[in-house]
Amino acid sequence: MENSIESKESGSIDYAGLVRQAFAAREGAYAPYSNFLVGAALLTAAGPVYSGCNIENAAFTPTNCAERTAFFKGISEGHRRFRAMAVVGGHREKGPADFDYVFPCGVCRQIMAEFCGGDFEIIVAKSPQDYKIFLFSEIFPQAFGPGDLKGDPA
Ligand SMILES: [Zn+2]
Repeated sequence: MENSIESKESGSIDYAGLVRQAFAAREGAYAPYSNFLVGAALLTAAGPVYSGCNIENAAFTPTNCAERTAFFKGISEGHRRFRAMAVVGGHREKGPADFDYVFPCGVCRQIMAEFCGGDFEIIVAKSPQDYKIFLFSEIFPQAFGPGDLKGDPA
């Protein structure tokens, strides 16, 4: 689902709003095996936000993370430049008061490396009021990326 946060490339980012969209996306999580529900909200450079949830599978390896779900939705709609992503997660039985900060897995970080620069922001949140912001360069330094193949991600 595409939402429109009024946050163009040069504008400020509504971090709390992005976190709220990640929580809303978490409601759609399909996680009958881990019971660990994750939601993500991805702000594109153009303004639209794409949300995603984790989608598990009985065969396990086809499982897709919330972050990649959001990225693939945005990429499939033509977006190639992104500004920030909020990620929230926690066990099904836990309420938001018990949430901890959840970071993207290595596979999702590699997807980010394909499309995002070091200034891409990752917001990990326990609530819309309690979040931390990291630069992508902080959480995935020395990444292998398109530049290593002299490719053009666009
Ligand atoms: Zn992941």
